[in-house]
Amino acid sequence: MEKTIITAAVTGSLVNRNQSPYIPYTPEEIAKEAIESWRAGAAVVHLHVRDPNTGEPVQNPELFKETIRLIRSECDIIINVSTGGGPGMAFNERIGIIPSLSSQDDLKPEMASLNSGSLNFGILSRKKNTFILDTIQQNPWSQLTKFADTMKKFGVKPESEIYEVGMIHNVKTLKEIGVIEDPLHFQFVLGVLGGMQSTVDNLVFLKNSIPSGSTWSVCSIGLGIFSIGAVAIACGGHVRVGLEDCLYSSKGKLANGNAELVSQIADISKMLGREIACPEDARKILNLSKNESKG
Ligand code: ZN
Repeated sequence: MEKTIITAAVTGSLVNRNQSPYIPYTPEEIAKEAIESWRAGAAVVHLHVRDPNTGEPVQNPELFKETIRLIRSECDIIINVSTGGGPGMAFNERIGIIPSLSSQDDLKPEMASLNSGSLNFGILSRKKNTFILDTIQQNPWSQLTKFADTMKKFGVKPESEIYEVGMIHNVKTLKEIGVIEDPLHFQFVLGVLGGMQSTVDNLVFLKNSIPSGSTWSVCSIGLGIFSIGAVAIACGGHVRVGLEDCLYSSKGKLANGNAELVSQIADISKMLGREIACPEDARKILNLSKNESKG
């Protein structure tokens, strides 16, 4: 089987330092987490940026530029920027970073996330019996088309985020109208309230529903990533892990950074007989053009 691509989701937009002191906020902190994840075996970094003072998610091109500059000065990890942003962000702000970053060759991301449908997005506090996040992740057709088309125009490969199986059909529809092209890459996001839960049956159903010749990866909220990640590795898929999705390295023990989580997935992959892809290997597997590589 081909090598396993590990994507490090190093900060995200929903978790904060009240939950873990290890969440990076500043460009320096986020870049350091990305570089350490690369050393631990990550070939791709999935990037969000934060207000350096408050930790609030922001889709600020200057913060992205600074973070990418710092990462690129140390390693050739594949940059995958979020166009999902955070709850309540405007569409133009979310997709606006693609043209902003692409205006400079050395800062252009090779990949970007493409949330592939709308979703009741929530977090339920079971202690308080109340929803502490109650929002709709909005991605209507007009915006799906615009987001995919913008990525195509700037040569940024979309990573289609799939929270439930209907979103795979949405991506096929985008392909039909010509705004997204083969080979497709899917990121199954399991365990979100409002989306498909993290079970082996769901993962197998999803992977069997994508067009042949596509590549796919799985992520899962919480410690479930270590079991569903092992299933993905055994099935020939790839894995995303990081503090965006999981704050713990084992039950009750906070991970002391993203590299710890990346190492755990790397160990599982090696145990299951699959080597870890370096960024150059991953570029070949994902069919990315090589002109972005540096360092
Ligand atoms: Zn994200």
